[in-house]
Amino acid sequence: MTEREKRGKRRKRTDEEIQLKKQEDNQKAISDWVPHTKIGKNVKDGEIKSLDDFFAKGNKIIEPHIVDVLVPELKEKMVDFKKTTKVTRQGRNFSFRAAVLVGDGDSYIGLGTAKDKEKFPAINKATRNAKLAIKKIRRGCGSWECRCNQSHSVPFQVSGKSSSVTVTLLPAPKGTGLVVGDNIKAVLNFAGVKDVWSKTKGNTASTLDFVKAAIDALVSTNNVRLSEDITKKLEEKK
Ligand SMILES: [Zn+2]
Repeated sequence: MTEREKRGKRRKRTDEEIQLKKQEDNQKAISDWVPHTKIGKNVKDGEIKSLDDFFAKGNKIIEPHIVDVLVPELKEKMVDFKKTTKVTRQGRNFSFRAAVLVGDGDSYIGLGTAKDKEKFPAINKATRNAKLAIKKIRRGCGSWECRCNQSHSVPFQVSGKSSSVTVTLLPAPKGTGLVVGDNIKAVLNFAGVKDVWSKTKGNTASTLDFVKAAIDALVSTNNVRLSEDITKKLEEKK
């Protein structure tokens, strides 16, 4: 084995170890969890089996552990991190603002932001907020060129906004890939979207606004009335 192969093997093992450690931590957090709400207790007792089930009964996520239990395969990624300075009479105050994206790579996605004087508490709070803000999205194949009926793209054109930024996602045929800016690729990955075209408006370099607008667009795929209207229009065109 060459030195390079050895290094490669070592790195792979480390990744697996990190993953394993994360799973163990998650398991421990769940077993230590004492639910504050009745619905939280039902989740811990296994009476509610999925987030779909949870939301179908009209529940709101008040405890982030609900997401830990129901979506064990949840992925997390820090999408933005900033050090902010506030000048006060006493001097300069530093704090950190973290933005964390969570998603199950299928139909749930959430974004949370938080501030703290320390780096890791800011990230932890943002992760917690992302879990509390988790929302369902709908995928589909809204592409005229494709019509495969699989959920590899968005079901129809959707737009989302955050301050001056607008992100529009358009259905694309299979094999197109993610034709989007690097700053929102993770959002689509976390939502399980494989093929999509996009248009963006707005002249800011703020990654966070692009991420928020992309999530806003994806969440509107789940706007049932809108999708019914469009389905009707599609039927009429046939
Ligand atoms: Zn298709």
